[in-house]
Amino acid sequence: MAVAAAALVTVALVVGSPGPPPADVEDRPYPLAWALAAGFLAALGAALAIARLASIRLHRRVRALTETARRYTAGTPFPVGLDHGDDELGVMARALDQTARELARQVKDLSGQQTRVDAILGGMVEGVLVIDDEGRVQIANESVQRMLGIDSDPTGRFHVELIRHPEVTRVIAAAVAGDAGRGNEVRLNTDPPKVLLANARPFAANGERGVALVLHDVTEYRRADQVRQDFVANVSHELRTPLTAIRGGVEALVDEDRPGERRFVAIIARNSARMERLVNDLLRLARLDAGQERLAPTPCALEATFASVAGELAPLAESKHVDIRTAVTPEAVTVLADPLKLHDAIRNLVENAVNYAPADSTVELGAGSEDGVVRITVADRGPGIPDTDLTRIFERFYRVDDARPRDPGGTGLGLAIVKHLIGLHEGSVRAANRDGGGTVFTIELPHPRSDGGEADGTPAPGD
Ligand code: ADP
Repeated sequence: MAVAAAALVTVALVVGSPGPPPADVEDRPYPLAWALAAGFLAALGAALAIARLASIRLHRRVRALTETARRYTAGTPFPVGLDHGDDELGVMARALDQTARELARQVKDLSGQQTRVDAILGGMVEGVLVIDDEGRVQIANESVQRMLGIDSDPTGRFHVELIRHPEVTRVIAAAVAGDAGRGNEVRLNTDPPKVLLANARPFAANGERGVALVLHDVTEYRRADQVRQDFVANVSHELRTPLTAIRGGVEALVDEDRPGERRFVAIIARNSARMERLVNDLLRLARLDAGQERLAPTPCALEATFASVAGELAPLAESKHVDIRTAVTPEAVTVLADPLKLHDAIRNLVENAVNYAPADSTVELGAGSEDGVVRITVADRGPGIPDTDLTRIFERFYRVDDARPRDPGGTGLGLAIVKHLIGLHEGSVRAANRDGGGTVFTIELPHPRSDGGEADGTPAPGD
């Protein structure tokens, strides 16, 4: 259209212009036709140039629009500030820009939501697994990967390929079949074994179907529950034994026909004392568990503590013909500890040593210091402890061998209390067998420095 208009204008100009006189016209052949042709060609050239320019501009705008549309398809719908203009293309570009702006806002909202969901899933101790109706994993948070031992990113993979625990796949299969399983307890054959509570439920939303599985690791609760049950069973057993003896003694006393009353009174006295010790030890452990026994550390002279323990146990040692010897090296003269608690721990070990030591043997109580640690040892020449039991003897009511003759006064709680008391000092206690027979218990405590701080490597307060 522009081309035609330009040609017409040019033709009109040429035709309408005051031309040369007719004589001149007759002198030259086809003068008017040439002028007309030249004018037409000039007009055509101008029109073509204008058309070309218009087409280039149009082409650029269409290309910008195409590019924008391509970016939408690629998922980056951000406004690009298109050259709008007022024509139909401009209106379309504005509409496209507006759409892009709206989409960008929605994408931002969605990615904000996704970030929040990721943060929640990542922070959850419960394992979360979402699978679609084909059985492919859509969501698997870190906890579920850890619980089920999944190493690589499971997203998009079939859950049956990834989950090696039939108990879990069974729960998922039940949910796929429409059974919203709640609180299924599954035991995983891992090392160490795990106990999980598995809740799986099917879902259907926006035409999508799948199963959401939530796993809760209850291994520790179950273990604690087992310990509690064992503990109650042990306490009941330990209390029943002396109670039975007391009842037998009382019944014998009531029965006037039976002689030897003193013997029954002795049984009653011994067993009530045993029950009292048991109840005292239980209460002490309960206090230690509840954190009610606070540490009051002060520099302790180990010689004095050893002498006090040896003095208290002298009657027992004499009755068993056991000699208690003490030795403290100069570097271990003092230790920073709660004197009463340290005394109780050492006394417990020495009492065991005397009880298990054979007659005419020696129990050695010693202290030395090395590498910033004070080591207190209690060694006897008793039966020793099987290697497999060396760590277990610190458990409550654990006894090496039930067939082995028992320490008559023992409650089975002594070493558990020792471990607690030494743990309060941030120390440690262990048992080992001695060359030549017998057991040696070693307590290690941080060594106090002369400036009141702890030994080498541990900064003193204010350092
Ligand atoms: P108990 O009151 O039975 O002595 P402990 O907690 O003090 O309870 O000790 C736990 C178990 O550890 C004892 O039953 C015994 O089997 C073993 N044990 C402790 N000390 C010694 C020792 N010096 N020699 C041999 N076995 C020991």
